[in-house]
Amino acid sequence: MIDTNLENLVSELKEVVNLFDGADSLNIKHRFTESEKKFVNTVTLSGKVFSYGNFIGSLSGEIEKKRLVKRYSKLSLYKALAKFYGKDLPWGALTGIRPTKLAYQQIEKDGDFTEFFIDTMKVSGEKTSLIKSVLNSQKGIYEKNDNNTDFFAFVPFCPSRCKYCSFISADIKSALKYVDEYVDTLVDEINYSAKFVKNLRSIYIGGGTPVALSDDKLSKVLDAIDKINTGVEYTVEAGRPDAITESNLKLLKEHKVTRICINPQTFNDKTLVRLGRNHTAKDVIDKYQLAKDMFDINMDLIAGLEGETFEDFMFSLDKAISLSPENITVHTLCIKRGSYLAESEDRLSGEEVNRMVEYAHQALNEAGYNPYYLYRQKYMAGNLENVGYAKPGKACVYNVDIMEEISSNVACGANAISKRVFGGGERIERVASPKDVLTYINKIETIKKEKSELFAD
Ligand code: SF4
Repeated sequence: MIDTNLENLVSELKEVVNLFDGADSLNIKHRFTESEKKFVNTVTLSGKVFSYGNFIGSLSGEIEKKRLVKRYSKLSLYKALAKFYGKDLPWGALTGIRPTKLAYQQIEKDGDFTEFFIDTMKVSGEKTSLIKSVLNSQKGIYEKNDNNTDFFAFVPFCPSRCKYCSFISADIKSALKYVDEYVDTLVDEINYSAKFVKNLRSIYIGGGTPVALSDDKLSKVLDAIDKINTGVEYTVEAGRPDAITESNLKLLKEHKVTRICINPQTFNDKTLVRLGRNHTAKDVIDKYQLAKDMFDINMDLIAGLEGETFEDFMFSLDKAISLSPENITVHTLCIKRGSYLAESEDRLSGEEVNRMVEYAHQALNEAGYNPYYLYRQKYMAGNLENVGYAKPGKACVYNVDIMEEISSNVACGANAISKRVFGGGERIERVASPKDVLTYINKIETIKKEKSELFAD
C-alpha cells in the first residue's frame, strides 16, 4: 500500500514498488515538498524514514517541472527501497520498457547518456555498457524519419496453446470455424492499408504461428502482401516446428520472405512437454536444417523457464549457438502476478535468471553475436530484459524500428496496433484493433475508418 501526496503519480510509484519482491506488502508513505529551488522527497517504509533533497536549477516551464517531480519522486522511492532491502537492482530506478529510447533522448539533449543512467537513475555499469553496445549495433539501421513505415500483419492461431503464452492465440483446432473469415478480413484490411505504406523499411507477419494456416490460406495473405513489398526485409514468425513444412517454407520463399523465426524456447524435451508444446528439440533442429539455406533465421530462447536449472539453460543456449542462426533472442520469463507461474514452487530466483542472462551475453559475444535490440516488460523475472543478438550485418530492421519507435507502423489483424510517429517519435498516435478474433471481424469497417484518419496526410 502506498500513501502519497502526489495522487497523480500513484501508478508510477507503484511501478517502483513492484521492482522489489515483497515490497507491495510494506506500509509506504511518500511526501513531496518544494521549497525554493529544492525538491524534498520523504519516504517512510514500515516506520523507517528516508529523506532526499534535490536542487533544481531554473526550469523552462510547467512541463519540465512535472517531469522532474516525477523523476525525483520515483528515484527517491527507489533509493529508499534499495537501502531498506540492502540491494541495488541492475536497472536501478528505470521502469520503462525502452531504455535505449531513453538513452537516445539523453544523447540528443546532453550528448551522452551514461552519466544520467549511472549517476542519476542508478543503472549498473554493466547494463549501461549493454545499452552502449546496442546503440552501436544499430548504427546504419537507426533512422528517424516520420515518413518511414514498417508493415505488420497478425495471425493469431497456433497448433496448441503454450502454458506461458500471454498473447491472444486461439488453438487452431477450436478456432477452425473462424479461420476462413479471419483470413478474408485480414486480406481485405491489407489491401485497404496498402495506400498508407510509404518508404517501406520492413515487413513482419507475426503470431501466433502464421504457418499454422493451411497453404491455401497462407497464400492469400502472402499474395496481398506481395502488392506492398518493395523488396525489403520480410520476416515471418514461423514459430513452432510442428507447424513448419517443406511446402510452407517453399511458399514463403516464392513470396520473397527473407527471414523466418523458429523459436525453440528451450532444447530440453522435458521442459517442452511441461510447456504444452507438441514437439521435441530434435523437431526444431530438423526444421532448422530444412530452412537454413533458404532464409536468415531468428531463434528465441527463454531464460527462467519453470523447472529449468542454470545448466538446462546453458545447454539450450550452447545448442542454439552451435546451429549458428543469424539472430538469437534471449527472453527472460515474464511472470504475471496471480498466474500459475507466479505461485509455482519451481519458479527461479532473480539471481539465478540473472546468471543465465549473463552467461548468454558472454557466450553470444564470444560466438560473434552482438546485442542489437533490447526491451523490458513488467513482471520480468529478476527485473531483467529481453535482448536480441545478431551476427554482424544481420540485425533485424523491424525489431529496431519497433523498439525505438522511430518509424510508423501500418499494422493489420486482430490485436494489431498501427502507429504513426511525429517529430521522430516525440509524439505517437495509435489505432488498436480488438484482441478477440470475432470482434475484429465484426468491427473491420470501423478499424479501416480509424486507420484512414490516423494516416491521413
Ligand atoms: S507458439 Fe507463441 S503465440 Fe502460440 S501458444 Fe505458444 S507462446 Fe503463444
